[in-house]
Amino acid sequence: MKALTKEAQADITPQIALQLLKEGNERFQKKHMAARDLLDQVNDTKSGQFPFATILSCIDSRVSSELIFDQGIGDIFSARVAGNFVNEDILGSMEFASKLAGTKLVLVLGHTACGAVKGACDDAKLGNLTALISKIKPAVAAVTEPTDPTQRNSKNIDFVNEVAVKNVHMTIDNIRSQSEVLKEMESNGEIIIMGGMYDISNGVVTFFEN
Ligand SMILES: [Zn+2]
Repeated sequence: MKALTKEAQADITPQIALQLLKEGNERFQKKHMAARDLLDQVNDTKSGQFPFATILSCIDSRVSSELIFDQGIGDIFSARVAGNFVNEDILGSMEFASKLAGTKLVLVLGHTACGAVKGACDDAKLGNLTALISKIKPAVAAVTEPTDPTQRNSKNIDFVNEVAVKNVHMTIDNIRSQSEVLKEMESNGEIIIMGGMYDISNGVVTFFEN
């Protein structure tokens, strides 16, 4: 498999970009990874990169976008921060990837059993992690059930995963409200901004299509 060229990237619509990620995750689940020589792709991309998607995911060691979507060198921009939220720097990175480098899809990918989300549920405090976790706390507050305070912590994995989903939706809201560049590209049909969840127990990505 060759790395993407400028012409190949130009032919990829936002819907095709979504389809490419879906197919990649299906190959990963079925152990039918595409045959690619990564060093050949290094050679293919030495004078330029033409990726098709930008993915924001958690730093979690089990959630590498390149692996779970079966992608190679030069295929995706991958932004990672514990808890997959956006700030000025992540938004700037996404704007570069979309507006200047031509990717067609922005995917915010949360995952089950996220340690950063658990930390937010438990109001954990540690060094710089305290400030990071504060970025996820609005999602904890936005999940109203259960109301019993003894059930609103990391011991309740269903609650943790609900908060992770809410965090993805709120991150997408933040992208639209804080990035004029991406909001305009979405309005013009140049990109799709979408959320999804990765299940660490089975390797499946569920896309939030509505
Ligand atoms: Zn995580």
